[in-house]
Amino acid sequence: MTVTVLFSAGSERFEVYEHPLAKALAQAGVPARLVLDAPPAAVDYIVFAPGSAITDFTPYTRCKAVLSLWAGVERIVDNPTLTQPLCRMVDRALERGMVEYVTGHVLRHHLGMDRFVNRPLDGWGHAVPPLASERPVGMLGLGALGQACAAALRALGFPVLGWSRSPRLVDGIACHHGASGLAEVLSQAQIVVTLLPRTPQTEGLIDAQALARMPRGAVLINPGRGALIQDAALLAALDSGHLDHATLDVFRTEPLPGDHPFRHHPRVTTTPHIAAATRPATAAGVIAENIRRGEAGEPFLHLVDRARGY
Ligand code: NAP
Repeated sequence: MTVTVLFSAGSERFEVYEHPLAKALAQAGVPARLVLDAPPAAVDYIVFAPGSAITDFTPYTRCKAVLSLWAGVERIVDNPTLTQPLCRMVDRALERGMVEYVTGHVLRHHLGMDRFVNRPLDGWGHAVPPLASERPVGMLGLGALGQACAAALRALGFPVLGWSRSPRLVDGIACHHGASGLAEVLSQAQIVVTLLPRTPQTEGLIDAQALARMPRGAVLINPGRGALIQDAALLAALDSGHLDHATLDVFRTEPLPGDHPFRHHPRVTTTPHIAAATRPATAAGVIAENIRRGEAGEPFLHLVDRARGY
């Protein structure tokens, strides 16, 4: 039977997703009709992204799953009308994008590129950067993205301390959890990367107390979510010199307003939420596989735990 897949992730995105999705569904052996609009009661699956016109899922009585194109689902997860299973995006290309962003920015700060590049005369007498093995990195979040980044940093020689909600065992990573675990990671890591979802528990996690735990001269890299950070506390830590630098890809308001103090702060680097994009060529395969599973009565992949919020 032909399934109706409603693409509710923006008509401009439909242009780039239509062909890869149709191809992936055909490869998965699912006869499907991909549409931008349909009567709600006729829809079998919804492909979703923030900005979707759907705010009330109640009329989608036949819908078997809502499939997010984004890894972060904080803008849909607490929608009370959503009773259908919600799956998020976990994809190798997304992971590789994040690994490249995180390793690039960690190496920039580790090597002191801003300090040393194109300064052939000023450099004499400066301490050379330590080796990676002498630079502990903290990874807050040990999920799909955090683990991939931790493994890449470990392969470069950095000692990596990880932190997650539940206890984790990850090869080569010193894993911690709970409040005392967070304190341990923050106090040891000279570079901290935040790859946590936005949930009521992680909102404002990087506050004045957390920042004070980090060693003087530490660097914060946040490609997770803007709300993980208390902006005023971060600015105070940077202004006092306690923190050397913050590299931020995500913000409480996006795009980052032109008058936000992060914009021109000498110790802040901003990027416009580009750390890791969902790439249609591979993401289409993830969506198609879940639709195939739904049709075969198999469990969905990457199901969001609605109570946990991620
Ligand atoms: P994930 O697989 O769901 O992993 C989330 C990790 O965070 C898990 O290790 C989880 O702990 C941990 N965590 C959640 N709540 C916690 C808490 N209260 N205390 C401690 N640890 C907690 O997510 P992911 O795929 O790695 O993605 C992480 C986030 O990256 C996304 O939610 C999104 O916000 C962000 N992201 C950003 C971009 C970008 O371009 N900037 C792109 C994609 C994603 P457990 O292991 O115990 O569950």
